[in-house]
Amino acid sequence: MNVHTAAALRAYKARNRILKAMGYASYDEYLASPLWREIHERKLEREGRRCFACGRTANQVHHGDYLVGTLTGPSEAALEKLGTSEAWQWWLQTAELYAVCEKDHEWSEKFLGEPVGPELATRRLKNRRRKNRLDEAPVPLPARQGRQERKAREMESELARLIERDE
Ligand SMILES: [Zn+2]
Repeated sequence: MNVHTAAALRAYKARNRILKAMGYASYDEYLASPLWREIHERKLEREGRRCFACGRTANQVHHGDYLVGTLTGPSEAALEKLGTSEAWQWWLQTAELYAVCEKDHEWSEKFLGEPVGPELATRRLKNRRRKNRLDEAPVPLPARQGRQERKAREMESELARLIERDE
């Protein structure tokens, strides 16, 4: 067992304690619950079903941590004060959740067949996102090229005018 596996097992144990307090007998039971289905669906929808790591279609949601706030969804108070849609919006903005494809999700959570835990898995997903250059804005035309294009357009319309005058 490597150091990450030990951290992973600790994280799963802490997670299961929280889930038990929430009334779920197991993680599987939580994943089958209406609460998780709603978190899952709203997260995928918010991200346009794009994988955080590769940009392809996402159909899973990765937990960046298993803290209480991440597992419970928006609080009753927030839902009451802000209304359903806004409360979810606010919560999803800060929740440690990532829309991912199945392939990247499985890859991120295991190294040499051993679980690495939510934190390292998230770091690996972020590295993959960087490698895929998903945060980079499209490169604007260099100024000179922009000028050349403008010049070409001007010449084209000048030519069109000359042809029209000639006809
Ligand atoms: Zn992916």
